[in-house]
Amino acid sequence: MGTLMMAGRGAGDKLAATYCNLGTDVNFGELSRAMMRYLVAQGCDVQFEHEIVDLRRLPDKRWCVVVKDLTTGQRRKISARFVFIGAGGGALHLLQKSGIPESKGFGGFPVSGQWLVCDNPEVVRQHHAKVYGKAPLGAPPMSVPHLDKRVIGGKEALLFGPFAGFTTKFLKKGSYSDLFKTIRGSNVRPMLKVGFHNLGLERYLIQQVKLSLNDRITQLRRFYPEAKKEDWRLEVAGNRVQVIRKDPIKGGTLQFGTQIVKAADGSLSALLGASPGASTSVSVMLELLAQCFPDLMRSQWQSKLQALIPSYGHRLAADPALVGEIRAWTSASLQLSATTEQQRVAG
Ligand SMILES: Cc1cc2nc3c(=O)[nH]c(=O)nc-3n(C[C@H](O)[C@H](O)[C@H](O)COP(=O)(O)OP(=O)(O)OC[C@H]3O[C@@H](n4cnc5c(N)ncnc54)[C@H](O)[C@@H]3O)c2cc1C
Repeated sequence: MGTLMMAGRGAGDKLAATYCNLGTDVNFGELSRAMMRYLVAQGCDVQFEHEIVDLRRLPDKRWCVVVKDLTTGQRRKISARFVFIGAGGGALHLLQKSGIPESKGFGGFPVSGQWLVCDNPEVVRQHHAKVYGKAPLGAPPMSVPHLDKRVIGGKEALLFGPFAGFTTKFLKKGSYSDLFKTIRGSNVRPMLKVGFHNLGLERYLIQQVKLSLNDRITQLRRFYPEAKKEDWRLEVAGNRVQVIRKDPIKGGTLQFGTQIVKAADGSLSALLGASPGASTSVSVMLELLAQCFPDLMRSQWQSKLQALIPSYGHRLAADPALVGEIRAWTSASLQLSATTEQQRVAG
């Protein structure tokens, strides 16, 4: 665990930890930019600074997407046979605009995420791991405290958190009216029921909002006993919009995962939930493709997907040799050095 986490602990202090020497940071922002650059090089038209302001069904069953150019203010219409709504916290609003019956009863519960950040090189160089603790009692699953080394754009920093906060914004740069704009006749009951049945979560959020910097440093010292307040600052990382959905028994439930919502004819789909676009993105998109294009997935797309994802169609949990092969392949592609663990599993 390194000197940073052990210094300042008594010889009799008990600690338990498991260790895995695999893995790396993934900068999803940079990954997205790289994918966009590739698409543009292939002749794909990518428009930035444009906002989708409306979605309407046309008589011929296509979708009319109304797009606003945020630089000129001009609006134009695009028609499409298939629409995918992957707009993070903006997805619920667009899904509601589509008016599909499957969108009824969904609501959002926004929770903001904050981190303590340290970029003092003296401190940063002492920690080379991602160390996860346990979520406090009553806290949501995404609140597992962790002390991470992150390298962003070549710059190293330590992050500790996440701390939750209450917000009515659905996107980091969204509006305080986001939450209220998504309230509809069909979701008001599920939203009220979720508020009523999740008092533990609400108590947890209130406690989190009330935390002072000193309180947060006290939590950090459970990981890093000699942490100094002056080395750390609080930063807002972003917002998660937890899914609220209608439930025939409870009236409404709060979900912590990612949710695919699709039109019955497969012509429109949306991703809602806490983590739609990062580590879960590949598996959730495969599921979405299977739901919206079942025939193409079974026929034309099989071989392409197998080439892109060598483990596609295999159960990795039942095949340790394949796990070893895939890890070695991934490490080679990402230019990570092969570890003894990989060699052991592969052998
Ligand atoms: C504190 C915190 C920690 C996290 N940690 C992790 C982690 O460790 N691992 C992990 O896998 N995930 C993590 N996540 C979740 C992860 O960040 C998100 O799943 C991911 O960023 C979502 O990506 P996205 O592209 O779907 O949405 P976003 O990144 O939210 O992007 C949505 C985009 O759509 C645009 N948009 C919205 N509405 C419209 C509209 N009408 N027209 C045009 N554009 C629109 C927005 O401007 C934005 O650019 C974390 C999230 C938070 C908040």
